[in-house]
Amino acid sequence: MYDDQVVIIGAGICGLSTALALHKKGIKSVVMERSESLRNVTGAAITIRPNGWRALDQLGVADILRHTTIPLQREIVVALDGERQQEISL
Ligand SMILES: Cc1cc2nc3c(=O)[nH]c(=O)nc-3n(C[C@H](O)[C@H](O)[C@H](O)COP(=O)(O)OP(=O)(O)OC[C@H]3O[C@@H](n4cnc5c(N)ncnc54)[C@H](O)[C@@H]3O)c2cc1C
Repeated sequence: MYDDQVVIIGAGICGLSTALALHKKGIKSVVMERSESLRNVTGAAITIRPNGWRALDQLGVADILRHTTIPLQREIVVALDGERQQEISL
């Protein structure tokens, strides 16, 4: 049915990144997505951790994205009951 060598299920950031990575290696793929529209219930920002930046570097898109980012120095996770708090250095 398909000439493509790889079928990727899901057009989230992981599926699309995989498709781009395969394309850069000359491997054809097709991405199958069950949703007919974009998901619009997500928050207001995207947090990308160091391993994510390494992946974006490999995909050749990190330099473009770095111009639009605000580097985070630390992260504080606060439990809704207010009793627990954890600080994470980034
Ligand atoms: C409510 C919510 C808010 C979030 N807010 C943020 C945020 O503000 N910042 C942030 O950095 N991260 C946020 N996240 C986390 C972020 O969305 C995920 O880390 C990221 O989307 C994971 O990417 P993914 O490609 O692995 O999966 P997804 O983005 O979930 O993509 C998977 C895709 O596969 C499709 N799919 C699944 N099963 C099938 C199937 N059988 N056939 C075809 N298609 C299929 C789905 O429709 C979906 O489009 C949020 C997550 C949620 C749930």
